[in-house]
Amino acid sequence: MSKEWFPLIDEDKCIGCLACYNKCKHSVYDVENGRPVVVYREGCIDGCHGCGNLCPEGAIIYSGEYKEHIKCSCGCGG
Ligand code: SF4
Ligand code: SF4
Repeated sequence: MSKEWFPLIDEDKCIGCLACYNKCKHSVYDVENGRPVVVYREGCIDGCHGCGNLCPEGAIIYSGEYKEHIKCSCGCGG
């Protein structure tokens, strides 16, 4: 089963403060060129909003929160 809960960073909003990287103790983030990158999504704790709550720019969303929105809408159940 694929991992469904992990952070997604809006790179247009991110200012590189690294609050997310400094917050997370689960090795989800690394830093490249002064910017956070998600390198270990499997380490993210389901339902955790720790990094997103700290982000001053609202640049972090979570894949799992949008699961309903990306389901097929044609009625096929997919
Ligand atoms: S949501 Fe929690 S566990 Fe996941 S990356 Fe952010 S701080 Fe780490
Ligand atoms: S906390 Fe938000 S603004 Fe700061 S580095 Fe992380 S994603 Fe970017």
